[in-house]
Amino acid sequence: MSVLDYKKANQYLSEYKHQDGLAIEALMDEQLSGGLTYNDFLILPGFIDFDAGKTSLDSKITRNITLKTPFLSSPMDTVTETEMAISMALLGGIGIIHHNCDAKAQADMVRKVKTFENGFIVDPVVLSPTNTVAEVKAIKEQHGFCGIPITENGHLNGKLVGIVTARDIQFHKDDKSLLSQVMSTDLVVAKKGVTLLKANDILRSSKKGKLPIVDEEGRLVSLLSRSDLLKNLNFPLASKSADSKQLLVGAAIGTRPDDKERLALLVDAGLDVVVLDSSQGNSIYQIDMIRHIKERYTQLQVIAGNVVTREQAANLIEAGADGIRIGMGSGSICITQEVMACGRPQATAVYRVSEFCRRFGVPTIADGGIGNVGHIVKALALGASAVMMGGLLAGTTETPGEYFYHEGQRLKRYRGMGSIDAMNNQSGGKDGNAATKRYFSEGDAVKVAQGVVGNVLDKGSVRKYTSYLITGVQHSLQDIGCQSVAQFHEDVYAGRVRFEKRTAAAQMEGGVHGLHSFEKKLFTSA
Ligand code: GDP
Ligand code: 5GP
Repeated sequence: MSVLDYKKANQYLSEYKHQDGLAIEALMDEQLSGGLTYNDFLILPGFIDFDAGKTSLDSKITRNITLKTPFLSSPMDTVTETEMAISMALLGGIGIIHHNCDAKAQADMVRKVKTFENGFIVDPVVLSPTNTVAEVKAIKEQHGFCGIPITENGHLNGKLVGIVTARDIQFHKDDKSLLSQVMSTDLVVAKKGVTLLKANDILRSSKKGKLPIVDEEGRLVSLLSRSDLLKNLNFPLASKSADSKQLLVGAAIGTRPDDKERLALLVDAGLDVVVLDSSQGNSIYQIDMIRHIKERYTQLQVIAGNVVTREQAANLIEAGADGIRIGMGSGSICITQEVMACGRPQATAVYRVSEFCRRFGVPTIADGGIGNVGHIVKALALGASAVMMGGLLAGTTETPGEYFYHEGQRLKRYRGMGSIDAMNNQSGGKDGNAATKRYFSEGDAVKVAQGVVGNVLDKGSVRKYTSYLITGVQHSLQDIGCQSVAQFHEDVYAGRVRFEKRTAAAQMEGGVHGLHSFEKKLFTSA
């Protein structure tokens, strides 16, 4: 064979018209290889001409909500309550608060996320001079803050007469004292209409903890908090609504009539997106619920599911779903495929459903089976706009539950919502048990488990862990040669991003091998 001119290597490739690897449709050819999982394939590397840090992970989770980090935490009672939802939102993702509790408790969690970080706190807790120190302490206990503006009548829009702060009550022994005796009256305020930027400047130079905003007559209209100033600086990716600057939050509900009452409380608490939580979402109940929501709450975004086929998705899209959640039986704690004989390998499910939904402008969320950074990237490669994680976030400090030690290791519980444990949880009170609703088994004399209870290792704070996931995905996209998730999707569908199937031997080769022992440390952070 004659040697070709090395300067024409690229020209030769384009004339040869044969690209390495497979286009996505060829990879996913079920006639040839059946359903695939994330571990069954790899993505071939592309060309790098940008810094990993410049890779944009902006992506939609519903028609109207775009996040800077395409991560959702799963609505499970060992994964997402207030703390997780706050942290996810601060890092650019979103937490979906579980519903295995009574409706009021769930709404309280939503409210706490919404009031965590504000530009202006538009609905601050206000007291009057005749309230007592004990009442401030109770507020501290319930809400976690005690910087309380005092107005003449004890209400917002009343004339501002003072402020009570932690220092005013810290060493105050007599809980019965009136606030008029302890409040500070030396006030620095800003006038209504002040910009957030200017108000922050005043707060900074005043060295106070709170800046009440008042109207021309000195009536309190809102409040600014120094602690939010710092949070705003520290979390540039934070998911916030454009107008109120409050963090975004989601919550899950079931599809039974009493879930409509639950939803009303959640919306009142400021909910941004509701997730209809069924293991098999293609049901008349879910279609009715979507219609109800679309009629009643025109601004609320609805994520429907779960589905694994285009046929299931079509019904939900037609009913008005704004996002579709994909996965049945792929979760790490899940035994659905074993028990129900229903489900689909997750990579195939994500590709088929996402490819269908994008035709209607409906984003998809790959839910279940995300076990590492590579799986996140593969889910995005298959057309998902975002991923939902349970097991990967379980064991972090911000998840509900206490750590315990077993054989020298620090662990936390992580349980499937279809586990007997979760289905027996009575904390749903009169609102019933969310886990049984998810699996349509409320009325059954025998409860058939679709999940297990397990333990996971302490992963430290989700804030560091999520930062690792974000950086990992950015580096992966850099290797593939795509500078944004949108570009990634375009290049996959155009056949420019190429794939390779992995044999069992290839999977062995791709893991650590040939060592006597090793330690797998995933990241360090400054
Ligand atoms: P405080 O000094 O005890 O009031 O607490 P911090 O300033 O440390 O934290 C208050 C946090 O709670 C901030 O993030 C506020 O945005 C938030 N927050 C939400 N609603 C209210 C409210 O009604 N009053 C106050 N003081 N803070 C609120
Ligand atoms: P993971 O991220 O742990 O792999 O999966 C989490 C997802 O599994 C959840 O978001 C939810 O869709 C699903 N899931 C949660 N609990 C159960 C369960 O008990 N059984 C089944 N089949 N799926 C579950």
